[in-house]
Amino acid sequence: MHTSAKAVIETEALPIKLWLAEEQMEAGALEQARNLANLPFAFRHIAIMPDTHQGYGMPIGAVLATKGAIVPNAVGVDIGCGMCSLRTTLEEIDADDLKAIMKIVRETVPVGFSHHDEPQDEAWMPRIKGELPIVSQEYERALYQVGTLGSGNHFIEIQKGSDGYIWIMIHSGSRNLGFTVANHYDDLAKQLNKDAGNEAPEGLAYLPESSEYFKLYQDEMNYCLEFALANRTLMMERVKAAFTEVVSDVGFADFINKPHNFAAEEKHFGETVIVHRKGATRARSGEWGMIPGSQGTRSFLVKGKGEAQSFESCSHGAGRIMSRSQARKRLDLKEEVDALKRQGILHAIRNRRDLDEAPGSYKDIDEVMQNQTDLVEVQVELQPLAVIKG
Ligand code: 5GP
Ligand code: MN
Ligand code: MN
Repeated sequence: MHTSAKAVIETEALPIKLWLAEEQMEAGALEQARNLANLPFAFRHIAIMPDTHQGYGMPIGAVLATKGAIVPNAVGVDIGCGMCSLRTTLEEIDADDLKAIMKIVRETVPVGFSHHDEPQDEAWMPRIKGELPIVSQEYERALYQVGTLGSGNHFIEIQKGSDGYIWIMIHSGSRNLGFTVANHYDDLAKQLNKDAGNEAPEGLAYLPESSEYFKLYQDEMNYCLEFALANRTLMMERVKAAFTEVVSDVGFADFINKPHNFAAEEKHFGETVIVHRKGATRARSGEWGMIPGSQGTRSFLVKGKGEAQSFESCSHGAGRIMSRSQARKRLDLKEEVDALKRQGILHAIRNRRDLDEAPGSYKDIDEVMQNQTDLVEVQVELQPLAVIKG
């Protein structure tokens, strides 16, 4: 059988195709992939991206196509989480300007668990069309959440591109709005499966097509996807304003903004299916995407090759090699900070607690890129200059 995957694991149900060597895959993630392959409504095969690691119920960096059911947790709790990138017209930026810009960004973009003190202009919010019970219930609160970064893994980074330009990259999702929608429908799905005597493995509760919630979840999820796009767009506006305030003649071009946690109806292998990407980027032929590395390594702007075997997907990053708590225990603070300093990066590691986001807690991005040369073509390499972490 032809496949572009690095390895194929045959199971009693569907095959699992890996874009990494089997030995590179965590046992826990493999177990979760087997659970996906066993879902009666899973389609064709499970595709595992090279950045994969264990998640809740489903590995991060996995693609699940289904027919006749949707799995809220195969999108994840941060619905629409994703990346946006913007090219500036600058070819250089000096350290003082960079610091000044980051200071302004910190004043205009709330980070961590904080929200805005004031509701933001409703013009930023996607329009509610039709019946969206949870979104409607959360809407007023979401006005304080749009344009905020969120915690931990989310970031705002200034980078130097191999194309000669300075780039801005933002990673964030749908904040508390998406979290509330995700949990609501995951709970509903659990209850529904239990009532029908069809309990799914932990974290893989599903909504069958016959349920009224099947379409309702999709509508609410799609709103959250749009909200996440808007959230990143508004933050990017604030970063642009900071650039404009500090550097007199700067222009902006080439904006890319897309999710890596979502489900969408797509055509694959001649059939219409629901593709769930949990920590995976869509990579149709010629489609732009972003594959971040870490605050201390390169990130990549790529174009998809439309590989059918991966359901036209690629990785969404480097992926973790250790859990947050392991990183705080195992990594050496001085070593991590020195490596960032040597590169002259205005980094975001202040103390041991921040080690969970240190470059050492992520896989080797070059190896990850090597494992997906059949999925994407690199367009621009981006070297970090300064980063704000959630
Ligand atoms: P997520 O949290 O969405 O699963 O991870 C996205 C990816 O972003 C991670 O796998 C990692 O490779 C990358 N990443 C995490 N922190 C940073 C950062 O500060 N800067 C850059 N450029 N990439 C990061
Ligand atoms: Mn997220
Ligand atoms: Mn994310």
